[in-house]
Amino acid sequence: MSRSRDRHRGRGHHFMYDVVVLSIFVVQFLLFYFLVNLKAALVGIFINLLSFVFGLIIYYLFFIKHVKDSHKFMYDIYKAIDEISNGNFSVALNAKEFDVNHHIMELADKVNNMAEGLRSMETMRVDFVSDVSHEIQSPLTSIKGFTALLKDDDLSSEDRKKYIDIIEDESSRLSKLSYNLLKLSALDSGAKELKFEEFDLSRQLRETVLSFEPQWSVKNIDFTADCPKTIISGDMELIKEVWINLINNGIKFTPDGGSMNVTLKNDGHDVEVKVSDSGIGIKKEDQQHIFERFYMADKSRKRVIGGNGLGLAIVKKIVMLHNGTIKVESEEGKGTSFIVKMPVNHV
Ligand code: ADP
Repeated sequence: MSRSRDRHRGRGHHFMYDVVVLSIFVVQFLLFYFLVNLKAALVGIFINLLSFVFGLIIYYLFFIKHVKDSHKFMYDIYKAIDEISNGNFSVALNAKEFDVNHHIMELADKVNNMAEGLRSMETMRVDFVSDVSHEIQSPLTSIKGFTALLKDDDLSSEDRKKYIDIIEDESSRLSKLSYNLLKLSALDSGAKELKFEEFDLSRQLRETVLSFEPQWSVKNIDFTADCPKTIISGDMELIKEVWINLINNGIKFTPDGGSMNVTLKNDGHDVEVKVSDSGIGIKKEDQQHIFERFYMADKSRKRVIGGNGLGLAIVKKIVMLHNGTIKVESEEGKGTSFIVKMPVNHV
């Protein structure tokens, strides 16, 4: 509909153009005829016609190239789209070699962007599968190894207990991994509908801090919380998951005798929760990656500290589902703060 309107508008434009050119010719002819004579008027018109025809030839030559290039490039675009739908995302259209208008160029840019987006998603998918396989493989290898060792009848009861503890740890790592993967996929696919309800955020924060008391008190961490009563609307169960992950990380990465702090602020529109620790901190170059799936700043610590690099990805996803933001402030060796901001009333 709009295309035919454009066509009509185009024809109207040409018609106006013809009228203007014709009027100039007529006015020029009349001026020359009355001011000089008929011969001068005819010569003038002849010269004008000649340059007009010359101009037309140049325009025609240019136009033919333009049409040919447009057809050729459109064909390339169709081919690229076919390639993409067949799963080949490595296409890259180069409009610079062709004389095409900006609409076609824009279309080519969009196809290129789409291919690039799909390419990076494909890379993420492949990486994700390989990370998951690796995360499953390493505890399984360890469980298999220690189970074989347990078969030895001459094993001391001390070693037996040590091996059983390792098997237990690795099993819970596997179970945590599958829990986190299921949670992420439910959040990604939207399969889990958010249950919005009003609840006391300060109470939830205090309860979470208390539920971790065995872990922080055994490390002699001085834990303080400053959380004035604040009612917010959100998915209570999911938001609790955010604090569990942040506090758990804080305790994990804070050495014995350190300190941790949770504060809650409310300006009427947004709540801001800050979970700080005096732990090992995160390097600048790692800070931008820690919310990515399976990213662990220091993989060598993984065995000792545990974790699979999914916690913060889940945290970010939950915060985003609540229209919130999360940022990290950290200094190596000094400590880390995670700052979560969410609207008080999501609905
Ligand atoms: P993990 O299960 O490994 O803790 P997360 O996604 O929760 O996975 O965290 C990703 C990485 O971010 C961690 O491996 C760690 O390197 C870094 N990190 C997260 N929280 C902290 C913190 N409080 N202090 C220092 N490093 C942290």
